[in-house]
Amino acid sequence: MDLTLYNTLTRRREKFVPLTKGKAGLYTCGPTVYNYAHIGNLRSYIFEDLLKRVLIWNGYNVKHVMNITDVGHLTSDADVGEDKMLLAALREKKSVWKIAEYYTKSFKKDMKKLNILPPDIWSKATDHIPEQIELIQTLEKKGFTYIAGGNVYFNTSKLNDYGKLAQLKLDAEMQARIKDDKHKKNPHDFVLWFTKSKFEAQEMKWHSPWGKEGYPGWHLECSAMAMKYLGKQFDIHCGGIDHVPVHHTNEIAQSEAATGKKPWVKYWLHNEFLVLSQGEKMAKSGGNFITLSTLEEKGFHPLDYRYFCLGTHYRKPLMFSYEALEGARSTTKKLVEKVLDLKKSKDKENKTKQQKYLLEFTDNVNDDLNTPKALATMWDVLKDDTLSGRDKYSLVLKFDEVLGLDLKKLRKEKIPQDIITLAEERLNARKKKDWKKADELREKITKLGYVVGDTQEGYEIMKV
Ligand code: AMP
Ligand code: ZN
Repeated sequence: MDLTLYNTLTRRREKFVPLTKGKAGLYTCGPTVYNYAHIGNLRSYIFEDLLKRVLIWNGYNVKHVMNITDVGHLTSDADVGEDKMLLAALREKKSVWKIAEYYTKSFKKDMKKLNILPPDIWSKATDHIPEQIELIQTLEKKGFTYIAGGNVYFNTSKLNDYGKLAQLKLDAEMQARIKDDKHKKNPHDFVLWFTKSKFEAQEMKWHSPWGKEGYPGWHLECSAMAMKYLGKQFDIHCGGIDHVPVHHTNEIAQSEAATGKKPWVKYWLHNEFLVLSQGEKMAKSGGNFITLSTLEEKGFHPLDYRYFCLGTHYRKPLMFSYEALEGARSTTKKLVEKVLDLKKSKDKENKTKQQKYLLEFTDNVNDDLNTPKALATMWDVLKDDTLSGRDKYSLVLKFDEVLGLDLKKLRKEKIPQDIITLAEERLNARKKKDWKKADELREKITKLGYVVGDTQEGYEIMKV
């Protein structure tokens, strides 16, 4: 089956046909580094990793660019609210640069733990200020900008197809947006360059043709950096669904206005949200914030969370609960045990028998990344007694090139004695109901790179 993907731009599943045969240019909007990534954000990156692995599975040579937003993102995706980075700097009494450095490192650590393949190019917004200024100058020359209240705005009324990605209508809600900023000529206009900083303590600022001190609007960085590394037009752009109405809409507007080439990006893919009970959205600014470390502290392996995400199609909301995650944990444990067992098998392989399952797996992942079905194929393989142990082992490891559960390494490595001693101490503390000590010991074990989970027999330890 050909690779088909649901394109938000056309609201249809489409066969993937790259601009250049055999190659795929992929841009994924990266984190705004003012806080830890929460597991909702991480769902987004797991989905994008899956997409990338499926492209590779289909033989494409993927060039993947991910940005790091370290400037310009206000607390609202439009141009209102406060500067996210600055708020964090005030909260933590650090410089904005230190905040960015710290949370970028932490994000990359999470990616590694989740077995997410790193992009070919990491691009930081603050490393690309000249490119962003140049893009505004191009837009200025073509008549797409105006200056008001000291800031440079993109004039959305100059485009006849503004908002096509989100199928925006100039409805009342959109009209309301203009009230937030009296300088806007049209409700959807957005700031390309802030020269009049509303934040006195703004640390990140640059000289520009529009004033001595200023900084870019948030949407600009992705257009400038995507075009720098992937060309004026490229294949795929991704992010969470919240990016459709504002961020990605504005990226398209400024990129297509600057180059005159349409479409800027051929396929737009968006993941649905991770939600809590009652449909509550997990947000970095909300109190319902769960990180990967929170899960590890509770004894989950990061790849339990990856498995949990794969169990639901990326375009469906995923309801998070610890009970559901426990389900994923016991399933991954079963999987690891089976694979460890199969590894010992000395049977012969029968490639012809494997072929049927390889085709089935490919059909499933090529069907707009249908991971629930792909996982079902994997379990069918494990249950199929007409396959030899070696066939099963080979197939599961092959599938794992897409699923990314790191089954080749297998997690049952020899656990060092000092970790076992800590786990024993913790078990004793639990028996004495000394929860404080037990938590401290768990934290210590986590810091040393292991997770300890509670079982009926006592505990189990896994390497992260
Ligand atoms: P941010 O760091 O806020 O720019 O977000 C990083 C990515 O996470 C973006 O692609 C968002 O669309 C996505 N995202 C934010 N919240 C959630 C959520 N609750 N579930 C899934 N994805 C999310
Ligand atoms: Zn972006």
